Amino acid sequence: MNKLIIIIVILMLMGCHSSHMIDRCDYKVDTRYPAAGKNNRINSIVLHYTALNDEKSLKVLTQQKVSAHYLILINPKKIGNKPVVLQLVPEDKRAWHAGSSYWRNRTNLNDTSLGIEIVNLGYKPMFFGKRWYPFNDQQRVLIERLTKDLVKRYDIKPTNVLAHSDIAPLRKHDPGPLFFWERLAKIGVGAWPDQVVVKKYIGPRNIKDLASVANIQKLLAQYGYTIPQTGQLDPDTKKVNSAFQMHFRPSDFSGRPDAQTEAIAAALLEKYSF
Ligand SMILES: [Zn+2]
Repeated sequence: MNKLIIIIVILMLMGCHSSHMIDRCDYKVDTRYPAAGKNNRINSIVLHYTALNDEKSLKVLTQQKVSAHYLILINPKKIGNKPVVLQLVPEDKRAWHAGSSYWRNRTNLNDTSLGIEIVNLGYKPMFFGKRWYPFNDQQRVLIERLTKDLVKRYDIKPTNVLAHSDIAPLRKHDPGPLFFWERLAKIGVGAWPDQVVVKKYIGPRNIKDLASVANIQKLLAQYGYTIPQTGQLDPDTKKVNSAFQMHFRPSDFSGRPDAQTEAIAAALLEKYSF
């Protein structure tokens, strides 16, 4: 009998705490009626390079009005055999990395994405074009482990693992043509077309044959990009083409609307069933 009284007193002191009831001091929350209609606020990952060294990247991303959830240093520290990533913003908060942006009918990607900044100097302007700085193996391993974990935890679709240049193609180039999208796709992070299907869409054409600009504009818009629908190779269309090529055909990202570009877009749409 005494034991029962003690238990009742303990329960009263606990404020009738049970697994479905949350006590927030001045009021309580009953969690017994979870709704079926819900999804993650986070549905995409955006990758960037900082175009700065470690020290400057850290300073800018922690002290100015720009930030990212994660920062990968040039030589990530290791604890045991585990590489260390710096978290600058908690995942449940918005980081300020995307700026004016668009992907698949959404704008302001800061609202719905996780931003990963990678320390890399970007490119060096040369007499003929640009020389891009590569990512190193330690960075690659850490990016693979981090993105794989994020994709799993947030159930992020392959078509929503993005370059900054995908969501802001008129003003951004990062993370550039040396980023290893194909390799990431092989571990289940991000999209990559099947080469057999690309060949099918190229058909009897040469890969460099000019394709229909109107069709490429249509395919890229369907895939997620914001791109004019003019049927003309206007400057904006060329830049979006170039962003798409930088991601999926980095050997040539001149923006020229060729048969291979058109076929890659068609193969991606087929694979990820839009
Ligand atoms: Zn960026």
